[in-house]
Amino acid sequence: RGSLALRGVRKSYHGTEILRGIDLDVAPGEVVCLIGPSGGGKSTLLRCINQLESLDGGVVAVDGELVGYTAHAGHLTEASDRETSRVRRNLGMVFQQFNLFGHLTAVQNVATGPVKVLGRRKAEAERRARELLASVGLAEHAGKYPSQLSGGQQQRVAIARALAMEPAILLFDEPTSALDPELVGEVLAVMKSLAAGGTTMVVVTHEMGFAREVADTVVFMEGGVVVEQGPPAQLFGAP
Ligand code: ADP
Ligand code: ADP
Repeated sequence: RGSLALRGVRKSYHGTEILRGIDLDVAPGEVVCLIGPSGGGKSTLLRCINQLESLDGGVVAVDGELVGYTAHAGHLTEASDRETSRVRRNLGMVFQQFNLFGHLTAVQNVATGPVKVLGRRKAEAERRARELLASVGLAEHAGKYPSQLSGGQQQRVAIARALAMEPAILLFDEPTSALDPELVGEVLAVMKSLAAGGTTMVVVTHEMGFAREVADTVVFMEGGVVVEQGPPAQLFGAP
């Protein structure tokens, strides 16, 4: 579980083509880092993958299932919202801004999705939330509110919250860009351990050290196209 395939993904804003036909394959357990200059369309691509943006062309498939469409008698028709959210549930997203609920504790932030969306019982969801918070090094902070946590701690809560939905694939949009430099390492360490644990990940990042060390594949995007892709040693040269 956890494969992703993009074919011919196109997106325009106000007549300007931001994504000009993106093909991308991510295998289960693979870590792909999307790099390239600002404005190249990386963030737009992530939002198209998880349907925060509609596509102007092309398709996205998760584990062979098209997101947003249903195949019927050889034709594609638009999927129902219910069907789209079922497939989209396989995609967890971590944003640059952590987007935590300020009025909820860390445990509540992590447990609320499973309770409201997956229909889990509150006690069970909170037990699982504590486990996930412990796994990102926040066991002692589970009862705190976001305002009582550092940026790095908040981003680790956001990662635990994404994991709580049991997604097949995690998408990260510049997860360390909003952090003070001394807090970047603790978030990258959590991401590195997820990668080692076999989580499929697509990571938009400017952290070239992370890309070189952790990515299976580095994809260089510029001007809405994939310019080059391959293993880190191929893109960056031998260390
Ligand atoms: P990157 O993540 O590589 O920096 P983005 O995907 O954020 O690139 O942006 C690519 C281009 O799309 C930029 O020129 C940006 O201004 C534009 N863009 C992104 N989102 C929107 C939007 N909602 N409306 C209009 N233009 C957008
Ligand atoms: P990032 O590259 O980190 O995504 P941006 O500043 O490009 O940050 O985008 C932040 C938000 O603003 C996004 O939701 C994006 O869709 C929107 N946005 C970016 N550029 C434009 C634009 N030219 N017109 C309208 N919305 C935009």
